[in-house]
Amino acid sequence: MVQSAPEPPPCPFEKRFPSQLVRDDAFFMALAYNQAIDAWRRDEVPIGCVIERDGEVLALAHNTVEAANDPTAHAEMLAITQAAAAIGDWRLENCTLYVTKEPCPMCSGATLMSRLKRVCYAVPDPKMGCLGGATNLNDLARVNHHLELTAGGVLEDECRALLQAFFRLKRAASDEALSPAPTSASPPPPNAP
Ligand SMILES: [Zn+2]
Repeated sequence: MVQSAPEPPPCPFEKRFPSQLVRDDAFFMALAYNQAIDAWRRDEVPIGCVIERDGEVLALAHNTVEAANDPTAHAEMLAITQAAAAIGDWRLENCTLYVTKEPCPMCSGATLMSRLKRVCYAVPDPKMGCLGGATNLNDLARVNHHLELTAGGVLEDECRALLQAFFRLKRAASDEALSPAPTSASPPPPNAP
């Protein structure tokens, strides 16, 4: 029997529909959040990213590590490449990057190398975040480009809830896959003594 690819757990969250008239941090983060939901629906870790300049969206991306089988296919990396292509310049001066979770070491480095003006992230990451969570590459004394940083506080609760629910449901699904499968008609086994 051919095994089909496992389905992602159904995403219990809805996309957001922010007003187009107010182009503030919450607006752009809502677009990044919607990207994260798209990632979930494709069974990718739900992290989304948007790059903006002068109120216009230059790039929208989410993680595609699983589908691309590429450990560098993080939302921020893909968005930075898209934005550079969109403006025909690798220097993303005057651009702001919005991402639903604090960038990892690789992506934090890329935000500096691309000379972004500003990074705004929703959920700090004390484990792997390199823009203030675990460490801060932006504080390297001899780096000649520094970012403006908004670290947490913009749709933070919503983006965290999405990530936590994804990992909780994935864990539950893999626990279920590991336990012996009862036939669907049989009652749940009695508790062991
Ligand atoms: Zn990353």
